[in-house]
Parts: sequence; structure tokens; C-alpha cells
Amino acid sequence: MGRSAAVILAAGKGTRMGSQVHKQYLTLLGRPMLYYAIKAFEASTIDDIILVTGQGETGYCKKEIVDRYCFTKVSAVCEGGKERYHSVYEGLKAASDCEYVLIHDGARPCITSEVIEGALKGAMKYKACVVGMPVKDTIKISDEDDYAEMTPDRNRLWQIQTPQAFEYELVYNAYKKLLSSEAFQEGITDDAMVVETMTREKVKLIRGDYTNIKVTTPEDMEIAGVLLNRIYTGK
Ligand code: C5P
Repeated sequence: MGRSAAVILAAGKGTRMGSQVHKQYLTLLGRPMLYYAIKAFEASTIDDIILVTGQGETGYCKKEIVDRYCFTKVSAVCEGGKERYHSVYEGLKAASDCEYVLIHDGARPCITSEVIEGALKGAMKYKACVVGMPVKDTIKISDEDDYAEMTPDRNRLWQIQTPQAFEYELVYNAYKKLLSSEAFQEGITDDAMVVETMTREKVKLIRGDYTNIKVTTPEDMEIAGVLLNRIYTGK
């Protein structure tokens, strides 16, 4: 089997958190949020971890997270860019020596080894595979004045999470093409969209876990604290 790498994204500004400190460094159970995603990948069969940080934060991340917690799989720490897809591209360039790559939001600290291994197996089987869960709520599409316009069939709706897992060459070439023209970049919110738009490869959806939440607003911090306590202490 070829080498596998994880690109962990932590270059977002986290403005919806309303905090001075970037959200990836806010503490959960006494550790920076970013610690937990790295720890989960470190404990998995993934070979290398690439950390993508905000501008001017690589030194801080190396010292305060990678060295402090003795992570051994982090092979590169690089700066991200303005949009998430810029950050992913920087991470992919730094991860060049691998056959499979998993792209993960550093803002999803409750990720487990089981979900990581499932995504990696998915990449090997399907070439492009993303983790998600069937939606529980009814979803409506509104018109411009917030009146309900359409209610899609709930049985076919998924909320998409990360990791998003791919054959490296496939996703790297898709991103390279995306970055070559601004015309392609409108409305891109995840990696699957890049592969769906830039290649002919189909993206398989596999089940992740409802606990794999993205920490976006202050109430998510409370929920993540409870979930991490359960994952790491069984309480
Ligand atoms: O903004 P959003 O919640 O979609 O961010 C998801 C993940 O992408 C977060 O972990 C965030 O740090 C990362 N991100 C990034 N570079 C950006 C924007 C977001 O690495 N420019």
C-alpha cells in the first residue's frame, strides 16, 4: 500500500466564534482545539500529517502544539490562504509524496480513528470518498425573501463532514485546475465539490458520525467539550 497523508486545516479566521483568539487555539478540556484532530490522526494508520495554519502562525503551531504534545507524524506546517480552497491547495503541495490524502477541518476535534480508517479505506476503494451523515431535520430551500420555495426529499440529503479522502493525483490535479481560473472558484465549500466540478470521477458518500461536529459558534464549544470527554475518558 502507498503512503497516506492527512492535511489538517487550521487557517480559518473563525469570525463566527466572536473571539479574539483564533478558534483552533481555544481550549477544550485544557488543550487547544487543534490538538484533538492531530491526536486522532497520529493514532491512526495515516503516515504523515500536514498542518495548514494562518499567516504568521507556523512557528506558534510548531512550538505550542507539535513540539509541546510530542506529535511525531507532522511532516510539514505551512501557511494557508484567503479561502478554504487556497489553504487546501497549500496543504496538498506540501503532501506531495503520497498515494492517498485525507483532508480534515481542524475545527472538527471529535473525529475518531474509526471514521479516519473508514475514509482511508473509502479512498482506496472509490478513489474519491467523503464522510457525512443523513440529515435528521427537514431541509427547505428559501426564496430571496425567506419564503419556503422547495423541500428536497430528505431521504437523499446528507450533511457533509470531513475527512474527505482521495487518491492524491486525482484531488491534486482537480485543485490545480480550480486554482488556474477564478471562474471555477465561485461557491466552492468542500473538496468533493472540486472533484465533482473539475473531474469526471464520482464521489462516494460514506457514513461518519453525528458526533463529528464542526465547531463554529460558542455553543458548539460546549457540545464539543462533552463529546471529547466521552471519547477520551468514556464518561
Ligand atoms: O470556514 P469553515 O468553517 O468552512 O472552515 C472549515 C475549516 O477550514 C476550518 O478548520 C478552518 O480553519 C479551515 N480554513 C482554512 N483556511 C481558510 C478558511 C478555512 O484552513 N481560508
